[in-house]
Amino acid sequence: MSNLPPDVKNKLGLVQVYTGEGKGKTTAALGLAFRAVGRGLEVVMVQFLKPPEDYGEHISASRIDNFTILPLGLDHMASKVPRKEDMEVSEAALAKAEELIYSGKYDLVILDEINVAMSWGLVDADKVLDMLKKRPANIEVVLTGRGAPPPIIEYADLVTEMRPVKHPFNKGVHARKGIEF
Ligand code: ATP
Ligand code: MG
Repeated sequence: MSNLPPDVKNKLGLVQVYTGEGKGKTTAALGLAFRAVGRGLEVVMVQFLKPPEDYGEHISASRIDNFTILPLGLDHMASKVPRKEDMEVSEAALAKAEELIYSGKYDLVILDEINVAMSWGLVDADKVLDMLKKRPANIEVVLTGRGAPPPIIEYADLVTEMRPVKHPFNKGVHARKGIEF
């Protein structure tokens, strides 16, 4: 259970969205988590569409008591054409997210790539909206990923859209260990 002093806890409870085509959405959420754990917040990140392997952030989180990452995607990137297995794991990830939000144990809940899951139809945006509206007081929620649906953007308190100006991928530099994963 969260042990934050009331002056810190009482100011939490907004919904933040990091979306857009540019790089930096997941790392922005991880940067926020890094700041939050330093202040004693209990932080959990549920990763939609990401497998439990080979991400630097999983190694870091395992070293921090009040930061948990739950990678609940399949061991491959889901395709844009929804398959039954992708729907099932995404629905299970949403059920887990709901459980964590309602548990009252966490101060900051990050739903990584949930915007992508919604825009691909793997997760029902209405269900997510409903979950956000019913969340207990003073729990900050962050939703990351490209293609945040308009109703989610409308409901959120903070929305940042990453805009790609340059990305080294376009000159053949692929994902690098310690930088992209
Ligand atoms: P990061 O995890 O590095 O913060 P992100 O969460 O903004 O990136 P995603 O949309 O989740 O990016 O994409 C996953 C991967 O694609 C990341 O490794 C990221 O670096 C890479 N990527 C992001 N934007 C671009 C782009 N405009 N062109 C090519 N690759 C990109
Ligand atoms: Mg990302």
